[in-house]
Order: sequence, then structure tokens, then C-alpha cells
Amino acid sequence: MGADILDTARGGGRTVSLTFDDGPNPADTLRLLTVLRRHRIAAVFLLCGGQVEAHPEVVRRIVADGHHLGNHSMHHDDMTTWSAERIEADLRETNEAIRRAVPSARVRYFRAPYGAWGATPAVAAALGMRPLGWRLAVGDWEPPGTDELVRRLLDGVTPGAVVLLHDGGGDRSQSVAAVDRVAPVLRARRWRFTLPAG
Ligand SMILES: [Zn+2]
Repeated sequence: MGADILDTARGGGRTVSLTFDDGPNPADTLRLLTVLRRHRIAAVFLLCGGQVEAHPEVVRRIVADGHHLGNHSMHHDDMTTWSAERIEADLRETNEAIRRAVPSARVRYFRAPYGAWGATPAVAAALGMRPLGWRLAVGDWEPPGTDELVRRLLDGVTPGAVVLLHDGGGDRSQSVAAVDRVAPVLRARRWRFTLPAG
């Protein structure tokens, strides 16, 4: 398992991978799942362990819909200065929470909260998870309005980009609405939605 940070979508040409951080968050995650199903998009959900413990049924829905999972730490701490031992304990605790929700779950990826990687990539790789970065972030945490998110996504997408979005950490209804609007536009422009390359 490589410790280099993956930020590339699978396949050549106009491919893009959608990734969603900070959930599960029932209000927006469940609506997002409906949108992704409508547009036949498989995505990656980077889960926070505390959220998983609060909403395990939502994790089961994510897995049942065929999406891939990642570890986004227990409590969204900035791990920049953490020792490898402390990081490992947190990442293991998060994976255990995910597996209590879905015993058969495979946790393929890890993404550091705030992209503050510190010593996390090597620890994640040693635990069998690929560090997953991104090439495009659209500031949906602001949130800037659905029209602006749509504009940022359509203007910012590049071939092979992993895109960072959020379904948790606050009201993410704009993110959900933006994906619903952007998906058919990109498809019409011959983009394909794929999972990350690793
Ligand atoms: Zn996050």
C-alpha cells in the first residue's frame, strides 16, 4: 500500500471522482445518495468515526448503494503534530466504528482532516488505506450558494481530478443540489464519473 497521496480518478481522459467528507449526516447524506443513484455515480465517502457511531444506519445505506469508504478520523482533529502512535490509535478506532456499522466494510482510503497530513500518510498506508487527496475543492463549506458551487465545479474540473465535497459538518444542502445540477451537464460534455485510481 503506497503512502503517496492519491488525487487522480481512474481511467483516462475526461474522468472525475467525487468524494464527500465529514459524514455520515442523515439529512444531507441520504438526499445525496438519492442524487447519486439518479445519476448512476459511484463516489467515495470519507467518514468521521463519531458520526458513524451516531448514524450507523446511514453508513449501511452508503455501502448498500455501492459507494467506497474512507477514514476521516474519529473527531476531525488537526493531526499535524500528532505522533504515529496517536494517529494509529485514532485511525484504528475509526475503522472499528465503521466495521461495527458494517462488519464487511472495506475502508480503502484515508483523508486527513483539513488536509493537514503530518505523519498520517505512512500510518494510513500501514493500516491498508490509501491516502486520498484532491485536485479540486470548491469551498462548499462556506457555503457560497448552489449557483456558485455549480460554476466552481464546471469551471474547475480537469481530466482525472479527484473533487473534494462535503455531506457533513454543517448544512450541505447546497452541495447536494450542486451535484444534482452538475452531473447531467458534465455527462453531456462526455465526462465520466469514476472512482479514484488507487
Ligand atoms: Zn473534513
